[in-house]
Parts: sequence; structure tokens; C-alpha cells
Amino acid sequence: MIISIKLHATREEIDQVRAQVEQFGYKVHSIEGEERVVIGVVGVGDVTACMESVEAMPQVEKVVRISAPYKFVSREFRSGRTQIRVNGTVIGGDQFVVMAGPCSVESEKQIMQAAEGVARAGAKILRGGAFKPRTSPYDFQGLETEGLKLLQKAKAATGLAIVTEVMTDRDVSLVAEYADILQVGARNMQNFVLLKELGKCGRPVLLKRGLSSTIKELLMSAEYITAHGNANVILCERGIRTFETATRNTCDIAAIAALDELTHLPVILDPSHATGKRSLVPALSRAGVAIGADGLIVEVHPAPEKAISDGAQSLDLPQFQRMMDELKPYVQLWQATRAAEREKRVAVPA
Ligand code: PEP
Ligand code: MN
Repeated sequence: MIISIKLHATREEIDQVRAQVEQFGYKVHSIEGEERVVIGVVGVGDVTACMESVEAMPQVEKVVRISAPYKFVSREFRSGRTQIRVNGTVIGGDQFVVMAGPCSVESEKQIMQAAEGVARAGAKILRGGAFKPRTSPYDFQGLETEGLKLLQKAKAATGLAIVTEVMTDRDVSLVAEYADILQVGARNMQNFVLLKELGKCGRPVLLKRGLSSTIKELLMSAEYITAHGNANVILCERGIRTFETATRNTCDIAAIAALDELTHLPVILDPSHATGKRSLVPALSRAGVAIGADGLIVEVHPAPEKAISDGAQSLDLPQFQRMMDELKPYVQLWQATRAAEREKRVAVPA
């Protein structure tokens, strides 16, 4: 159950609502925005009596029953889409947003060439790992702070926003100084200490689905970030682990449509990690547009054969340019669909 408190309610009035809910034996979790306070009620059993009691309180605007264990990220909580503004680009709105760049930041020359190339092709956000989660401890672990500084340079040169991974709660404030969006990698989707810290980071978070995580678990992880104060979460389908070996991971393309029914958060597709093969990236990207994802995150390297990580799944710059050109008619259809959806919402307010 979610309780929306009327605008400008006093602290005392808010506390009265909390106390009333607690009397029924439920736990409360509030999100305090600048103007409005929203209280999530968590607990087992039938909430009807509690709901009716709270609904009668004059400081309460609306009470919505939510059955899913995630509250703030659920569809019931918000009928429209969450739109996240980053550096002049809106994710979850009327624009299909492409994030692109190398798996890892390797050198100034590499990141500058990548940034200029992907910007020219129409990407709005530059990706590049400075802290890399590698399966082997002997593999390149990233340039760390030096990598963040190179991303900052690339941003200054191209105007692209930056998305980059943060692996530990200890680095959140450091990465937030340089990044416009903080990425949580698949291996850290259930690093709850990190998720809680990201609740306070003041920047949007790109949350990637864990290798063996269900859609519900992904949403519960997003709920962690939201419940700790940060509503700007972008979800990412990047393939999951199955018995299949022809692709690096198995892209759960239906997850994007399923998430659209379950949550108001934007969802993007990573066709690079989902396949592990550059030849499959354009086809999967088209599927991502067609199924209604809010954008893509694509690995692009100026010289994939020399990449320190994930070269096999990285497009080179001409390949990325071609893919972006070929996506255009699909993106036009996507835009028409979004516009129709918006008109429908305006016509029938929820
Ligand atoms: C990456 O984006 O380079 C990455 C490590 O992705 P994932 O966490 O999805 O494996
Ligand atoms: Mn990678």
C-alpha cells in the first residue's frame, strides 16, 4: 500500500499517519520529496482495515493498494513513465536514447576517438568502465580515478553525458563527482550495501540485471535504491545465464515488455553483453527498439581488435554509424508509438 500525503502537510500530520499505520502492525517507509511525502506500507496480511482508516485522515490525498513486494517502482505507484533528465537528454520520454562507448577506458586517445565517433553517430551518453568487474583477478581491472578523469575530458570535448560503473559503496562519492549516471554491473545487482549508498548519491543509477536474477529480484534491487531516496533508476536487460552457449548470455527480450507492465522505470537493452558477438548486435538492437525499450547501451571501440576487454562484442566506429543509420526507421515507429501513448494518457487521465 502506498499513501500519498497532501502537499504542504506538516511534520506532525505526517507523523500521525505513520503512527496510525504502525498501530495496525505494519512497517512504514517514507520518501520525502521537496514538496510531497509518500509513505510505503510494508507487511503481510489484509491491509483493508488500515487502508480505510488512513483514507479517512484529512492530510492523506490518496491511498493505493499494491500487492507486489516492491512498492515505489511498481506500475501501481505511478501511472506514467519515470523520465530521467541527464545533461539535456531525457530517458523514459519521447526520445530513444543510445549510450555507447568502450567496455573499459584504456587511454586518452582511445576514449576521445570513441567519444567523438559515437557522438557523431547520434549517441547521447558515453559509456566506459574505469572500475572493471573482471572474472579473473589477473585481468585488467580498470584505470580507476585516471579513467574517470579521461571520461571527464571526453565529456568536455563532446558534450556527451557519462555513464560508468561503480563497484563498491566506498567509491560512490568519487564516481558521482565524474559520472552523470552511475552503473551497477550485473555482478553487483544484489550488493545491497552499494544499492543503499546509491540511494543517497544524487545521480541517476543504471541498474543491470544480474546474471541469474529474476525480473522480480531486479525490481527489488531497484526498490532498494528508491526506498533509500533515489527515484531515478534505469533498468537494463543484458542477458542472463542459461544452458545456451552460442551466445555469451541469453537475451531475455521479453523481460523488456514484462518490465513495462510491472514498473514505471525506464528500461534499456545492452545488446553487447547479451550476445557477446558484434555480428549479432545490430539485429538485437532492432529488437530492442521494436519491443519498446527506452534506449540501448552498446559497446563501441575505435579498434576492437586491440580492446583490453570485450573486443569480440564491440562494434568499430563505422559499424556503429551504420547500425545507427539502419535503426532510424525503427526509431521513427518507436516515436510514433510513444506519441500515441502520450495522447491516450492525456485523453483519459488516470
Ligand atoms: C559492462 O557494462 O562492461 C559490464 C561489465 O556489464 P555487465 O555488468 O552487464 O556484465
Ligand atoms: Mn563489457
